[in-house]
Amino acid sequence: MTATEVTACGTCGHPGLRTVLDLGSQPLAERDDGLRYPLAVAECTQCGLAQLTCAVDRETVFPPGHPYTTGNTAALRSHFDHLAAVIAPGLGDGDLVVDIGANDGTFLDAVRRRAPQARVLAVEPTGQAGRARARGIPVAEAFWTRQLARDIERRHGKATVITACNVLAHCADQHDFLSGVNELLADGGRLVTENHDWASVVHGLQVDTVYHEHLRYYTPASLGYVLAVHWLMISTMDRIPVHGGSFRTVAVRQRPGLQLRADAARSRLRQLMEEAAGAGKIYGIGATTRATPLVHWAGIAGFIDRICEVPGSDKIGTELPGTGIPVTAESDLTDGQPPHALLLAWHIADDIVPKLRFAGYNGRFIVPLPEARYYRG
Ligand SMILES: [Zn+2]
Repeated sequence: MTATEVTACGTCGHPGLRTVLDLGSQPLAERDDGLRYPLAVAECTQCGLAQLTCAVDRETVFPPGHPYTTGNTAALRSHFDHLAAVIAPGLGDGDLVVDIGANDGTFLDAVRRRAPQARVLAVEPTGQAGRARARGIPVAEAFWTRQLARDIERRHGKATVITACNVLAHCADQHDFLSGVNELLADGGRLVTENHDWASVVHGLQVDTVYHEHLRYYTPASLGYVLAVHWLMISTMDRIPVHGGSFRTVAVRQRPGLQLRADAARSRLRQLMEEAAGAGKIYGIGATTRATPLVHWAGIAGFIDRICEVPGSDKIGTELPGTGIPVTAESDLTDGQPPHALLLAWHIADDIVPKLRFAGYNGRFIVPLPEARYYRG
């Protein structure tokens, strides 16, 4: 499969996407693989993110040998030199600057000139990596992922600055992308991003800047929203002329506060529940006291068909307070075999799961916290 239909918002997981622009069926903009893909943009009715309705796999869009080269454009060279001048004053001896989507190394070359005491590292998955390396710039030749961020941290330590210019809109999973940024950045470290402004597309009718390479189109608001989920708080925002109307944000990594972490966990949980609900019914496991605040706070009551309790529990026959969700016997789970079961007593998941497997339940378990995920025993 080389393309996926987008049915939920890439930031908040909300399924309410409203198509605002349809450019028909089109080939990729920079290479012809002989296929045509739907090219349309939808806005999330919840968080405002504008996104393509069809995501072509990144290996198809950005294969090795991708023809785009930063250094070819004099205007971009000058732009990156200016950006290097903006970040250089904050850089000390041994500080690490990581450029995601570094292309041929034009920007990091400028950083080295402006701040020779700093270390630089390029992250570039395409054949352009060879050009950066030829300039003597260390390169991680891979797509940016959370896993890559961990590998880089092990080898090079924390980063002082991470830059991602016109990159975030291209990546398939921005949550994985930003988790990696958060993990690699030192406390107080800066993420510098530049993105084409969706408002400039809408108001300037720049519909010809919509192509499959861009999966998303941010505004300062929709970018700020997803950055905040990952503990990155925008400290400055400047409008820049790149691509006929872009904006540059500098975001500072915060020490994660409890509320912010909880909100991120809730977003993730709701996203996972929506995904699971697409496959069929979800039963809750364990009408524990903690189930009530979780279900209410996360707003997931509507996803839960019933909650199963161990035999003999005096909660069987009642409802989870304030939700109308019936509490029933555990045998319902093995009889009904719903595709997913939500572990409300997730803190003892390792005890519960083997017992329910032994009892004959075959579906997947969802662990709601601290980060919602499918249980892997
Ligand atoms: Zn959204």
